[in-house]
Amino acid sequence: MSQANPIALISRKTGNWWADDRRHWCAYCGDKLEGKAGSTPKATRDHVLPRAHLGRHVTIPACRPCNQAKANTSLPDFLLTPYFASVRARERSTRWPLRDLWLVMALAAVEQARSLSDTWPDSSA
Ligand SMILES: [Zn+2]
Repeated sequence: MSQANPIALISRKTGNWWADDRRHWCAYCGDKLEGKAGSTPKATRDHVLPRAHLGRHVTIPACRPCNQAKANTSLPDFLLTPYFASVRARERSTRWPLRDLWLVMALAAVEQARSLSDTWPDSSA
């Protein structure tokens, strides 16, 4: 029986956002992250699992206000905040679909599990 590698499966769905155009917009609110100095928010790397929870691995592009609003909240909790509801009310096409945010949360959880395991299944098998 072949062992499915969950990281490979999720990565195939989400792609590499730090290598494509998604890195230029906030995943949460869709604001542009680069541009003329002072006119647009600066890009930050938001830790999907807060660093305070030992979440070191998976980051997504976020504007400073969203990153600061999320702070040490986990992604599922952040999705339920009034702040998130207010920025999502703006309907920007450059923000990530909720489906993709949940897939990235799953990816971060699996990466975290792998970092805590000495016996992770070998994906090349
Ligand atoms: Zn934002």
